[in-house]
Amino acid sequence: MTPARHTAVIGSGILGLAHAWAAAREGDRVTVFERSERACGASVRNFGMFWPIGQTPDLLPTALRSGELWREFSSTMKTAFRACGSACVVEHDDEAAVLEEFSRIAPDLGYDCALWTREQAEARCPGIRKGVAKAVLHSPAECNVDPRESLAMLPVYLTERYEIRFQWSTAVTGISEGSLRTAAGMRHSFDRAFVCSGHDFETLFPEVFAAAPLKVCKLQMLRTVPQTGGWQLGPMLSSGLTLRHYPSFAICPSMTAVRERVARETPELDHYGIHVMASQDRNGGLVLGDSHEYGEDISIFDKPLIDDLILRELRRLFDFPDWTIAERWHGLYAKNPDGPIFRSEPLPGVHVATGTGGSGMTLSFGLAEAFLSLSS
Ligand SMILES: Cc1cc2nc3c(=O)[nH]c(=O)nc-3n(C[C@H](O)[C@H](O)[C@H](O)COP(=O)(O)OP(=O)(O)OC[C@H]3O[C@@H](n4cnc5c(N)ncnc54)[C@H](O)[C@@H]3O)c2cc1C
Repeated sequence: MTPARHTAVIGSGILGLAHAWAAAREGDRVTVFERSERACGASVRNFGMFWPIGQTPDLLPTALRSGELWREFSSTMKTAFRACGSACVVEHDDEAAVLEEFSRIAPDLGYDCALWTREQAEARCPGIRKGVAKAVLHSPAECNVDPRESLAMLPVYLTERYEIRFQWSTAVTGISEGSLRTAAGMRHSFDRAFVCSGHDFETLFPEVFAAAPLKVCKLQMLRTVPQTGGWQLGPMLSSGLTLRHYPSFAICPSMTAVRERVARETPELDHYGIHVMASQDRNGGLVLGDSHEYGEDISIFDKPLIDDLILRELRRLFDFPDWTIAERWHGLYAKNPDGPIFRSEPLPGVHVATGTGGSGMTLSFGLAEAFLSLSS
């Protein structure tokens, strides 16, 4: 019998785990190297939104395949997985026109979504402020996971089910063909490797990243205290500002009017890349965000103004029982302006993969599987 191929994965964020899982499903012996004691990058700092409605039609099958894998993992490990759907709630005529245009072409493009009346939306989403919604687009495909729980339990699942080995607190400092070196000076050989190092462009293959179109993006996030009395958000919520953020809506003719109005009336939202969304964690806290800053705008300090703007925009549309903010944090991710993944093969059998931007929780499982099936 031929011995199993040995795959090394660098990084235990969602993209690294997706590659590890896909390789193990192909029968490989897999080792994951993570420089921290546990994942602490973008994958544990996000909303936990599985968000197919934001993906362009060509990526929809990849998102839906990821959803199947999320279900498989969550049902086995009994981790939080709310198949709650989403509601995009808008207050301006131009935004309502976008939702109308999108809902008309959506079925032909593969999206399962429909307009709700204000009454339907208010009945199903208790967080919507009464009387303000001009239009609401409901999509049942979105799901809410708990990122910290998922990223802690995925390694347990992969170890128990596929005997994947995890080397925690082990930074990989160099890679040559068929072999890697750790910060402690250990060498480890492999048949193929996937470098899923997130937004770290300095440690491994800096020359690849220097030549790539990738950018680092900083996002600010907030979480409320748990809502009392078992209050439930229902579908995850987004606003008309979100239409600017996801490329799926770019085909709607009225997007030009939305963009022009925001630029004219609230340029501060464009300046900080703000759109607003809300999910709910397993303790009942509402996870709120976010902003997008790039390059020299990224500071080690978070900007209170950004938090205020996020809350201002959320409060226009939503009326949550308790807005007390319990936690604030930021996350950084690698963004590929040309699409939701950047790949490179700097050495034979060594694949760099990053750049999932704001879609890593939505696409990683499907992206990894598709890539491995092509490259095996
Ligand atoms: C605030 C925020 C909100 C978001 N919301 C959503 C959302 O709701 N839905 C969605 O789909 N996407 C969302 N995203 C995007 C998503 O989180 C990212 O696309 C995804 O997490 C990127 O995963 P990654 O594995 O590439 O990177 P990371 O999660 O950053 O993981 C990279 C890992 O590699 C390790 N590493 C790096 N270099 C080395 C080395 N040399 N040796 C060993 N280990 C190394 C790091 O320690 C790290 O653990 C959000 C992102 C942020 C920041």
